[in-house]
Amino acid sequence: MNEKLRYLPAVHKVQQNNQFKNIAHQVGNERTVTSWLREEMDALRQILLTNEESQLETTQQMEQFVLDQLQKKLEKFRNGNMRRIINATGTILHTNFGRATMSESAIEKIIMAARHYTNLEYNIESGERGSRHSLVEDFIIQSTGAEAAMVVNNNAAAVFFVLKAFAEGKEVIVSRGQLVEIGGSFRISKIMEESGAKLVEVGTTNKTHKYDYEDAISEKTAMVMKVHTSNFKTIGFTAEVSLKELSDVAKNNKSDILVYEDLGSGAIYDFKQHGVGEEPTVKEVLKNGADIVSFSGDKLLGGPQAGIIAGKKSLIDHLKKHQLARVLRVDKMTLAALEETFSTYVKGEHLIKQIPTVQVILESKESITERVRQFIVDLPLRKWEATEMDDVSMIGGGTMPEVSLPTTVLSVNTGPAPAQLVLNKLRTTSNPAIAARLKDGKILFDFRTVSDSESTYIKHELLKLENEFNTDETV
Ligand SMILES: *Cc1c(COP(=O)(O)O)cnc(C)c1O
Repeated sequence: MNEKLRYLPAVHKVQQNNQFKNIAHQVGNERTVTSWLREEMDALRQILLTNEESQLETTQQMEQFVLDQLQKKLEKFRNGNMRRIINATGTILHTNFGRATMSESAIEKIIMAARHYTNLEYNIESGERGSRHSLVEDFIIQSTGAEAAMVVNNNAAAVFFVLKAFAEGKEVIVSRGQLVEIGGSFRISKIMEESGAKLVEVGTTNKTHKYDYEDAISEKTAMVMKVHTSNFKTIGFTAEVSLKELSDVAKNNKSDILVYEDLGSGAIYDFKQHGVGEEPTVKEVLKNGADIVSFSGDKLLGGPQAGIIAGKKSLIDHLKKHQLARVLRVDKMTLAALEETFSTYVKGEHLIKQIPTVQVILESKESITERVRQFIVDLPLRKWEATEMDDVSMIGGGTMPEVSLPTTVLSVNTGPAPAQLVLNKLRTTSNPAIAARLKDGKILFDFRTVSDSESTYIKHELLKLENEFNTDETV
């Protein structure tokens, strides 16, 4: 038995400490804080049992240790689990950071839908029950040229739904070069298995020809599926069959074979016109002969998490009536944000650029450089050094991996203070947390993904940390 255990403070004694009372008061519930205290006492017991070198000797030291732990718990409790992050990584659609940020008008509409009753499934004209699909369908149609559209929870759900509804027990032909895995957890082959459709792989990883598809078509073929390989690119000796050719193959062989393209990102705005990537717009894909397409709401569209399914009216009608439509349906706040996002695309060019995702992708290097320079002028560092540096931003979210956008980053040399340590502090002690990158011992902040108001936090935090580390040094 460890001697030190004899000095463990009693729970009821700690409860009488003013610091404990103060924490309990701030939480507003003493029972919660008492349960935290019990957890911390257990943890302390473990430390005493396993850590010979522990400096905790007296009851008073132990009591203070436990109270300090409770204070930390209080901070966490106050901040909540979901916290704001300032994304200075330069990755625009960062999947770990929740992908797209939304336009002000979309945010306002979400608040409206959350705060008030709405006509979610109510036809105001007739005073009768309505359909939630109709809230966004018109705008999707107008911005994609599709005959009809509907929305599900995310694009993974959309892929599953389309396969299940149109190809269960039948065959789906996919090129080997397109059997992708997205984000480590989404595999076309697995989703296909879950849906009950049978995958027929054709071609090789680098080459698939028109005749490969033609040879694979049988009585059991329900669909030819094209997967937009958005998160990797095969280069060099490659061949892919265009959607137009696929559509011809399907139509020539058997009129009821569907052509489906899982677009992944799904651009409504034509980024190609600005020399950014080669992503076809949803409109172009539908024009080229896809019967049905699906794409994400929170990638290039710049809206909420959702899966948009668009295409032939007869097919969409079938999906709307399917039992799974109810299982995969989205909530009112998602619909509110989607309606607002799609309608912005319909309203015109100058408004489209107010969608943050579009705006951030299109911001010129010159404009970013100017913001970084102004920031450096306004940053009165004493020991550390801030300079500008050429770098590239990524789109992220598995979107346009081949595209790197030229940018200017703020590079901070923290001198004797270890950059990794400063980087960790920016993330863990700052609120909002600040996520930046480390390169060659310097901390890089890409201002492409940082707004002017957010850069104020970065400034404040850098000055604070510089001061903290300098003080540490002199101790
Ligand atoms: C991102 C992506 C998905 C998954 O979309 P989520 O909206 O994340 O569910 C599916 N297919 C492709 C090709 C993708 O790029």
